[in-house]
Amino acid sequence: MKVELENLFSIDESSQDQVIKVYNRFGIFIGAPEIRKRNLKASFNPIFTLNEDVTYEHVAALYKSLERELGIVSIGERFYFDFSDSEYEQAPLFTLNSTGNSPDMFIDDKGTLFSISTHCQHCGLKEKEQLSPLVIDTTEMKDRHLVHVSGYWVASQELVTLMKQENIKGYELLEVIHQGPEEGKQQAFQIIPTQVLPECSTERVKLYFATEQPPCRCGLSGIINGPDIYQCKDVTNLKDDVFFSAEWSHDGRYLYRKTLFSRKFRELIIKNNISREVRGEKDKNFGPKDWLFDPVLLK
Ligand SMILES: [Zn+2]
Repeated sequence: MKVELENLFSIDESSQDQVIKVYNRFGIFIGAPEIRKRNLKASFNPIFTLNEDVTYEHVAALYKSLERELGIVSIGERFYFDFSDSEYEQAPLFTLNSTGNSPDMFIDDKGTLFSISTHCQHCGLKEKEQLSPLVIDTTEMKDRHLVHVSGYWVASQELVTLMKQENIKGYELLEVIHQGPEEGKQQAFQIIPTQVLPECSTERVKLYFATEQPPCRCGLSGIINGPDIYQCKDVTNLKDDVFFSAEWSHDGRYLYRKTLFSRKFRELIIKNNISREVRGEKDKNFGPKDWLFDPVLLK
C-alpha cells in the first residue's frame, strides 16, 4: 500500500517553474502540471507518494515555503491509498467505501429515532443509538442494490435474496420504514452485522491535513485513518462474511462503526455483475454504480 497526496491550488501560469522548483527542493519530483486555465490562473494538481524520504512533515514545511516565497495560501489536499495487486488477492476482508461514484448512493434519513449523546466535549462529535428502524424514501433507491443512510447500509430485496442463496453469514436484517410516494416504493433492509472484529493493529497509518485545524485530542476529528490493518491470526479463520469494525468512524457529526465484508462477498458482487471490479478511487472502472472495496492489510 502506498499513500499518495494530491495538492490542489491555483497559480499564475508564469510562476509554474518556480513552484516546481520549490517542490523539488523538498525532495518531491513532479512534472509540469496539467494546466486547466480559468481566467489568468492555472490550476495545479501535483500527486506524489509519501514515504520515508517524503514524509508529511516535509509537506508541511513545503506549504510554508510556498506561502512565504510565492504567496500560495489556499492549498487543497486529498489522500489516496493505493493497494498492490497482491494486497487485493490476499485480503480476507474488505472495507466497503462506496457503492457508486455518485451522490445517488446516499439516501437521506427521513425521521429514524435515535438517542444522541455527546462523545467528545472538545470537537462535539456525538454518539447515536438507533431506536427505530431506518425511515427512508425507498423510491430513491431505484435500481441500486446497496445504499448508505447516515452510516448504515441498506440493501434491496434482490441483494438480500442473493446473499441468502450464497450463504453469506454474520448479519441480521431490519426492514426499513418507507416514507414517500406509493408508486415505485420497494422493500429494503438495513444490514446489521452481528459480530465486531478485534481491534486494528496500532501500526495503522494516521494522517491529518496540515492546512486545517490540528486533530482533536479524542483522536477522531481531524484524523484521516489509513487502511485497516489486522493481525493475521485475528482475521484468517473467520467463519462469517459481515462485521463491524471495533474502531469508531465519523461523518463529521456522528460516530458510526464501519462495516467490513469477506472476500467471498466481494467476489459475489462482481460475479453477479452488480459491480465491476474496482481497484482504487482512480480506477476507470469506478463508475456511478461500481463498488469500491479496499482490502484490509495483514500484519
Ligand atoms: Zn474530539
